[in-house]
Amino acid sequence: MQVDRPDAALAIWRLDDDTTPEQLKAAWRELRTVLHPDRPSGDAGAFAAAERQHKLIKAWVERERPCKLCNGSGKIATPSRGGFHNLLMPCLLCGGVGKETST
Ligand SMILES: [Zn+2]
Repeated sequence: MQVDRPDAALAIWRLDDDTTPEQLKAAWRELRTVLHPDRPSGDAGAFAAAERQHKLIKAWVERERPCKLCNGSGKIATPSRGGFHNLLMPCLLCGGVGKETST
């Protein structure tokens, strides 16, 4: 099946939105083994389609997500204390990068 969206590819592969790169690797290894044209069970067309889907899903699971704590800004407000309540400090979760990766 020709798909161009990661969510469609995820659905075909029966994977969740929060699939980890490791889970994808395992799923791909299994599928590749079954579909590879060198195998008796192989299917060149299905294998090529699966390769495209794998690419889409891989980009999806390895995408960068904005940090949950600072929402991508890299900075959080200091705790309200002694009148300095609006100072920003580097985010404690992402260290000021603003991004959360799946690794
Ligand atoms: Zn952060």
